[in-house]
Amino acid sequence: MEHHKSRMGYTLCMLTLFMCGAVLFLIGFFPASYSASEEEKSIPNDRPTTLHGIKLEPPPPSYDSFILFLVDALREDFPSATSMPVAFARACEKLTLHVDIPTVTMPRLKSITTGTLSNFIDIALNVGHTEQLEDSLLHRLKQRNRVVSFAGDHTWANLFPSEFTRRAENNDSFFVNDFYEGDRNVTKVLESELEMNDWSLLILHYLGLDHIGHVEGNESPKVQHKLKEMDESVQKILDHRNFPNYLVLLTGDHGMADGGGHGGNTPAETLVPLYLYSKNCSKPSSGSKRYNQIDLAPTLAVLLSVEIPSLSIGCLIPEMLQSLSLEHEMYAYFYNAHHLLNKARVKFGHEKVRRSDYYTWYQNATLLHRQLLLPLRDGDGSGTSQVLYQNAKLNYIRLSREISGLLSESLVKFDYGFIVLGLSLTTARPVLGHNGSVKIGQPQGGAIAGLYGYGCCAQCGQPYIRYNLHKLNAL
Ligand SMILES: [Zn+2]
Repeated sequence: MEHHKSRMGYTLCMLTLFMCGAVLFLIGFFPASYSASEEEKSIPNDRPTTLHGIKLEPPPPSYDSFILFLVDALREDFPSATSMPVAFARACEKLTLHVDIPTVTMPRLKSITTGTLSNFIDIALNVGHTEQLEDSLLHRLKQRNRVVSFAGDHTWANLFPSEFTRRAENNDSFFVNDFYEGDRNVTKVLESELEMNDWSLLILHYLGLDHIGHVEGNESPKVQHKLKEMDESVQKILDHRNFPNYLVLLTGDHGMADGGGHGGNTPAETLVPLYLYSKNCSKPSSGSKRYNQIDLAPTLAVLLSVEIPSLSIGCLIPEMLQSLSLEHEMYAYFYNAHHLLNKARVKFGHEKVRRSDYYTWYQNATLLHRQLLLPLRDGDGSGTSQVLYQNAKLNYIRLSREISGLLSESLVKFDYGFIVLGLSLTTARPVLGHNGSVKIGQPQGGAIAGLYGYGCCAQCGQPYIRYNLHKLNAL
């Protein structure tokens, strides 16, 4: 009887230790970054209207029409002079975007439209269902009654159930054997939207390339055939008579691994092209500069003349601001820097921000910006100093990159203290004392192996989500 009781106590103790350990591990592995999101709602969303006492005017939309031409799994080396001759030759800029893990569709669309990363709790909570977003470029456009049309992958319709003016989602996104039918429907919508020409933003999301990758791999001859089809669709836009003032962005949501899948963090999966097209691009494309996918949201926000989404932690892409006047370009840099600084204040505290280098850069940039504006406001643009302009711009870019990096790190940070403590408890073995009492023994050797395993998991975050996420959430 006595022995039975002590066995019960032993089992209960084991269970309690395991549960406590598991909870501590989860707290460490999924840091609750949502705690900040409530405070983040206190960040003013309005665009700034003054700078050191000078009145500022947010710029109007930079183009009449924007087209986001998204090819699922379009990796960086896919477009070339032979595979996509028109798209390659006529691009004003050929840039590269770095995509964060997990390289699957839903979190990538979230990054493109909100400018933020998916942290691990975010991903874990979203396995099996798609959350609806509360703030994004599309919400901001809807608030201003701008027409937004969409055709393609149904993931968009789940993320934005009521934000599109018109939408034609494919309901066959999970039929991985469909290489052509869904894409043909997207192109049909493209053709009718080009005729209508009443929209501010048209989003096209082609899925066929991704499906070919999954079924036949990246070496399949069908890949080249599909790229040619995409090239013809791009040409339809570029040659259309209705568009004197447009910006087209050709990009991928994520890349494609050697072998055809995606979800991990190899360069083939994390690097995608960003080709830009507009009617009057003066400069030929030079080199391939690399930016982050999260940079698209704030850059498009300033070009579309809407507020930067509140969650955005991206920087501006300078090559996309070339159509702006000097005054509007400086406004864009100031606005995004101001937005990021407010986010840093919420995340790290006012005092820490005030003592940081990036705050000094912010002060320098805004003072130079003010100096730059004075002659412009006096009607003497000729007095504008190139040195002032370059210095202000460099300071804005530097501080934005610094804050963006710090905020990105804070989103994917693990609390190693909790992880180690949790692992120790889950692998600790209670010891039965001589008198039947239960004591806690040393963690077993398994803890070390476990720690190593979890460490590997934490390093890349992908092995455990790669398969499930891809299967459940996004093809
Ligand atoms: Zn896929």
